[in-house]
Amino acid sequence: MNGNAFTVKAHATVNATGPLSDSVRQLATPGLKKRMRPSKGAHILLPLDLFPTEDALLIPKTEDGRVLFAVPWGGRLLVGTTDEEVSPDAELVVTAEDVDYLLRHLNQYVARPITPDEIVSGFAGARPLVGSNGSGDTKKLARDDVIEVDPASGLISIMGGKWTTHRAMAEDTIHTVQQVLGLLQTESKTRNHILHGGEGFTDDCWKRLCREHPISEGTAYHLVAKFGTASLEVLEPTIDTPDLLQTILPRGRAIRAEVVYAVRYEMAATIEDVLARRLGMQFYSWSDSLEAASIVGALMQNELLWSDTSTSDAITTYIEKIYHLIEMAGLSRERHASSRSEESAAH
Ligand SMILES: Cc1cc2nc3c(=O)[nH]c(=O)nc-3n(C[C@H](O)[C@H](O)[C@H](O)COP(=O)(O)OP(=O)(O)OC[C@H]3O[C@@H](n4cnc5c(N)ncnc54)[C@H](O)[C@@H]3O)c2cc1C
Repeated sequence: MNGNAFTVKAHATVNATGPLSDSVRQLATPGLKKRMRPSKGAHILLPLDLFPTEDALLIPKTEDGRVLFAVPWGGRLLVGTTDEEVSPDAELVVTAEDVDYLLRHLNQYVARPITPDEIVSGFAGARPLVGSNGSGDTKKLARDDVIEVDPASGLISIMGGKWTTHRAMAEDTIHTVQQVLGLLQTESKTRNHILHGGEGFTDDCWKRLCREHPISEGTAYHLVAKFGTASLEVLEPTIDTPDLLQTILPRGRAIRAEVVYAVRYEMAATIEDVLARRLGMQFYSWSDSLEAASIVGALMQNELLWSDTSTSDAITTYIEKIYHLIEMAGLSRERHASSRSEESAAH
């Protein structure tokens, strides 16, 4: 992150960089033919009471042949998606055109038309699709994964795939590494490997948290739903620092100890790492994450020993980024800045 370069020695190198796979393949062997056809997907989030159901809605064919869905997710209604080929270095944000497309289709199926003003947040990303001949529509490309061993450099690239196939992708990749290194192919452990926080999990393990820590049942449920039995590790620093039991926002569920845990054990290095990719608050509400930025910044300062200047720079950078996302989606910065106090939902 600080731009320093250093050398790492390894017997085998795996390139698992998703939509950016070609950039690393071409670093290893300049001139290699590109294989990725990244496709942008944009999603918006709406208050769940606009579509009060526990069911998901799937529109199998929109006017241009895409699939559109509206799914209750994390207390919100998640509406997606678009499918548009992008260059690997394109800025991935929800645009005003994406908002128009998604609402135009959704509004054909809801009793009252939903307006852009009701959007609470959104996100976009690039799907790592692998193209066979570099032409044709990305929405017709299969979501299969491909493993390539580059004969010139020895680089092993795992490309394509889905979240839903990640364990199979990892298993195949490790088999390839074993082959390349001439190792005996041992049976993969992934099928029965219990993920962190799954050890000793029972439906009532939240009760132990309530017994051992001064927390409400609601907080215990929230932590267990997210961290499983690793919740005890999340709560560990609160024994010496009880302030970390406070929620980040007065009306929210996430507690301050989760920020400390994200920094210490989940490699969070920026405010966006915490609010978007560890807590998910940025997906729940842009307004909430604007409000939480300074609290998260102060907690990270304490953990990472940032100077006051670095901390205020980190907070400003994050807030500007959220405003940029709001503006790119054609929405009003002022509305999101002021809607914080109107929200009563518990995140
Ligand atoms: C909008 C959207 C919706 C999706 N919906 C679904 C879905 O509903 N179901 C589903 O199963 N899948 C879905 N996917 C697909 C899923 O997100 C991907 O298949 C999955 O994330 C691929 O995992 P990966 O680890 O290969 O790549 P990624 O998750 O992209 O991870 C690659 C990592 O490499 C890092 N990186 C890149 N370049 C470098 C570099 N030079 N040096 C170091 N690090 C680097 C990146 O920062 C990133 O962290 C969706 C994708 C998008 C974009």
